[in-house]
Amino acid sequence: MLAAILETVPSGQLVVCDDVTLREMTSGDVRIKIKHSGVCHSDLSVMNGTIPQEVPCVLGHEGAGIVLEVGDGVTHVVPGDHVVVAFAPPCGTCPFCTGRGQPNLCMTGMITMATSQQFLRGDTVVGSMTGCGTFAEETIVPGFAAIKIDGDVPLDVAALIGCGVTTGVGAAINTAKVSAGSSVCIIGAGGVGVAAIQGARIAGAADIVAVDLHEDKLDRAKDFGATHGVIPEDVPAALAEITGGEGFDFTLECIGTAGTMRQAFDLTRRGGTCCIVGVGRQEETFQLSAFEMFFSEKTLVGSMYGGADVRTDFNRFLRLYKAGSLDLEGMISRRIRLDEVNDAMGAMGDADIIRQVIDF
Ligand SMILES: [Zn+2]
Ligand SMILES: [Zn+2]
Repeated sequence: MLAAILETVPSGQLVVCDDVTLREMTSGDVRIKIKHSGVCHSDLSVMNGTIPQEVPCVLGHEGAGIVLEVGDGVTHVVPGDHVVVAFAPPCGTCPFCTGRGQPNLCMTGMITMATSQQFLRGDTVVGSMTGCGTFAEETIVPGFAAIKIDGDVPLDVAALIGCGVTTGVGAAINTAKVSAGSSVCIIGAGGVGVAAIQGARIAGAADIVAVDLHEDKLDRAKDFGATHGVIPEDVPAALAEITGGEGFDFTLECIGTAGTMRQAFDLTRRGGTCCIVGVGRQEETFQLSAFEMFFSEKTLVGSMYGGADVRTDFNRFLRLYKAGSLDLEGMISRRIRLDEVNDAMGAMGDADIIRQVIDF
């Protein structure tokens, strides 16, 4: 079958080959025919070494498809079911998954996924990014990573739920807990930023300010619910106009650089919430003074996988899509075939791209 493999790191190219096979099924496995996979900025971050990953591996972690086969002990899905793949699924039994109510932080699920090696090329074992390997026509995942969805949801929009949409919408709703009538600033109006804007709108925010370097992205952000779109130089004026200079009730950083994380904290009002959604480099740091945390009483919170319980939130977000509250079709800027994936990587930063989706 066809798959796109990362052979070395750093690398600017994936190798698209047609001689990839799957290992044997074992108990607890689910084999999925991937119908669509989004191309996420994190795929590029693996290629350039920002996110560490063993190679060779099949990239892709934002996919949806149809169950082909289930291993012994799998009862929550059957062949023919439509599923979205979760890249950090809850094991269901550890403290994060039970008493703590933070299944998005389950280490058992994450490690199980990270060590999954479901592909073969000849005799060479090929792993996958976070166990998903959705840049392949078929994949095998542990059962708990295959989340059943309603059969009437188009699988192209469903794919987006697997990473970017859940990360952004979930950060606004679950992690930051944006409240009705509040003021929100979203730094970065790419795919995750657009999802966060929609999350803030769904939560009932009164003012949603999108900040980005590209004017085109700001215009587009307004289509998804931003009430204002400003370039960085115009942020002080927006802050004064909307908040009287106090700062925003909620600020969400959706880029992943130390500078914008510190900026997000500064733009948050006393007692407000600054939520870090972007994934930065391990060695980058930003400073907080030893006095300001006490005096400002701001909440600084990270958000991993949108603070979501994928077992319920995937379908919750898809209900919002069906109700017309969450625009997923509008987030698909470009549809490609798997052999165009390298071109898609190159186009990732383009102002007219929100999400590129592979059609298998
Ligand atoms: Zn992603
Ligand atoms: Zn767990």
